[in-house]
Amino acid sequence: MSNNYSIDLDFDKNHIWHPYTSMIDPLPVYPVARTFDNRIVLETGEELIDGMASWWSAIHGYGHPKLIAAIQQQAAKMSHVMFGGLTHAPAVELCKKLVAITPSPLQKVFLADSGSVAVEVAIKMALQFWLSRGFHHKRKLMTAKKGYHGDTFAAMSVCDPVNSMHSMYQGFLPEHVFVPAPQTSFFAQPNELELLQLREYFVTHHHECAAFIIEPIVQNAGGMNFYHPSYLKALRDLCDEFEVLLILDEIATGFGRTGTLFASEHADISPDILCIGKALTGGMMTLSATLTTDQVALGISQGEAKVLMHGPTFMGNPLACNVACASIDLLVENDWQTQVTALADGLQALQACQTLDAVKNVRVLGGIGVVEVNRQVNVAKIQAYFIKLGVWIRPFGKLIYIMPPYTTPTADLALLCEAVFKAIAADEF
Ligand SMILES: *Cc1c(COP(=O)(O)O)cnc(C)c1O
Repeated sequence: MSNNYSIDLDFDKNHIWHPYTSMIDPLPVYPVARTFDNRIVLETGEELIDGMASWWSAIHGYGHPKLIAAIQQQAAKMSHVMFGGLTHAPAVELCKKLVAITPSPLQKVFLADSGSVAVEVAIKMALQFWLSRGFHHKRKLMTAKKGYHGDTFAAMSVCDPVNSMHSMYQGFLPEHVFVPAPQTSFFAQPNELELLQLREYFVTHHHECAAFIIEPIVQNAGGMNFYHPSYLKALRDLCDEFEVLLILDEIATGFGRTGTLFASEHADISPDILCIGKALTGGMMTLSATLTTDQVALGISQGEAKVLMHGPTFMGNPLACNVACASIDLLVENDWQTQVTALADGLQALQACQTLDAVKNVRVLGGIGVVEVNRQVNVAKIQAYFIKLGVWIRPFGKLIYIMPPYTTPTADLALLCEAVFKAIAADEF
């Protein structure tokens, strides 16, 4: 049965919360009728070129026949079954693929239903690991400012304290050790001084810290900061030297977005715990995973608790696992490296924005292009303008950024970049 509901926008406005909005004075929302390829079609008829890949997830564009088939075939066989005491082929096949494509020390997989939950699980793993080895004082995390790790409480506690309004939750949110955000740009020379300062934090705090958690190479929702691989390399060494686990949150960067399959490859390192999500199912279903090493898994299992205390109802959902398998196959089949290189080339057109007075910085890495302007963007205003130009781009703060589906045709990529230039040049932000 196809659904033919018409969208009641008044009901939406009066009853439904959208992300990070007020219930009294919400930002406008645009009703979507359907999506295909790299297009979002509005109820009002406009066909928009997608610049966001639905928050990093729709890497193969929308409605890919192989992804649709993976869901349809699985739904006809078994849509969901509890993962407690039962297992199934889609979960086993997916975990095999994940173990194969992630850095080789990562051997054990925990499947969950969203990125935030994957981060919660990673934090539990780290705490339980040290606890089971008798390190009862390792109860905190270290992290860098400007990070983003999700909106549940433990995940939020390691997000940038200012951006995620930590002051509002004082006394409720666990307090962790924040180091300065990585300073040295991906494109600059390594900075020894910065790394020495990082070391000081480890000297002072390692005894109370179970893990350091960070997004490798690209700090996304906390400021689209592209930082130098030498920072990650140093982190890996410091974590080893000071007995702190390294958690890499690749929920945004995973599956090729930065030009390597996982961003940790830019620094040639491997974490103790890895979180992935977003593009895992090609944007078709919600699914995430937390991977860890034999050492961490054994540590947890030999401890007092003996088990990892987590188990979501929809853990290992067969529909999500099956479409994730198909999406990973598509990455290889489509030659994602060539696709992302083409995106990186096309996104260089954003450099034209450098000539505009309002622009502070333009940066491109893999399939991510960022234009930083010198004032807060008026989201409602710029989006109305973008829709007139036929593109879907949603800025935040001072950042107008695009990370389109890997399948975006060159001509559409040019139109996305041109739209960003025009919006700034016409002062429509
Ligand atoms: C989006 C994101 C999360 C949270 O994932 P959800 O699926 O929204 O819970 C965590 N970490 C990073 C780096 C992300 O980009």
